[in-house]
Amino acid sequence: MKIVVTVKQVPDPNSSLGLEADYSLAREKEVVLDPGDECGIEEGLRLKEAHGGEVVLVSMGPERARDAIRKGLSMGADRGILISDAQLAGADALLTAQALAAAIQAEAPDLVICGTESFDGSTGMVPPMLAELLGLPQLTFAKKIELDGSAVKVHRQTADGYQVVEAPTPALVTVTAGIAEPRYASLKGIMAARSKEIRQVGFGDLGIERGEAVETIEGVADAEARKAGAVIEFDGTAVDRILQVLAEAKVV
Ligand SMILES: Cc1cc2nc3c(=O)[nH]c(=O)nc-3n(C[C@H](O)[C@H](O)[C@H](O)COP(=O)(O)OP(=O)(O)OC[C@H]3O[C@@H](n4cnc5c(N)ncnc54)[C@H](O)[C@@H]3O)c2cc1C
Repeated sequence: MKIVVTVKQVPDPNSSLGLEADYSLAREKEVVLDPGDECGIEEGLRLKEAHGGEVVLVSMGPERARDAIRKGLSMGADRGILISDAQLAGADALLTAQALAAAIQAEAPDLVICGTESFDGSTGMVPPMLAELLGLPQLTFAKKIELDGSAVKVHRQTADGYQVVEAPTPALVTVTAGIAEPRYASLKGIMAARSKEIRQVGFGDLGIERGEAVETIEGVADAEARKAGAVIEFDGTAVDRILQVLAEAKVV
């Protein structure tokens, strides 16, 4: 069982985020492995522990994205592939998916695991494009994955509960943050990760062409500030007033 997990390096969610002139997120600050992708790695490792095989991490980004891969290797993944090239700078979601697809195709995995959306760009478009480019069935919003021979079954998170969806492997699955609590890297894992392979792939190795960006950010606006809530004092009318508020919000 070969499992590929896509991993992105993003600005630290706990730091203050600034914007560049082109509205993209400033990245000179602290960067970390995307917390959503940590969940994907954890799930990949659990599947490997249950079924055997290897977990390969694939990332596209600047040279320092190597640190994000290294973190996943210290959690227990087997090896990494870093797609890094100045010609890929400023890639939109489509070019990102094309580059990832080219590298993943060469690995011929049984399962590709992606985060549902990244912390920074958060378009949620890379995984579906990736599935399409790889010609794989895609199972999205997984909160549980089961592998059974040549099929993958997921519990797909919905607003009301979950759906059970199944597809033949190879397949691509996007995972929610609730799928698994990422493990901490042990000291042994950190030491072992130092000697694990991270293969660097350049634009010329991918066999793709860079077209015009099909997606640009035209503007950014702050979210509307939350309005202060109403305080209902506990007097003889409180219950009726609360019911009225809930009815107006169509909650009851
Ligand atoms: C609104 C917006 C803001 C952007 N801001 C920036 C920015 O500040 N700086 C910048 O450099 N680029 C930025 N981009 C470009 C963006 O980083 C790439 O298009 C990005 O790689 C894919 O889009 P996404 O982050 O929305 O991925 P999503 O589709 O939301 O990501 C879902 C999952 O796909 C996988 N994935 C996505 N990208 C990669 C990757 N590069 N390597 C490995 N796995 C990946 C991960 O598993 C991730 O959890 C932005 C794009 C948009 C549309």
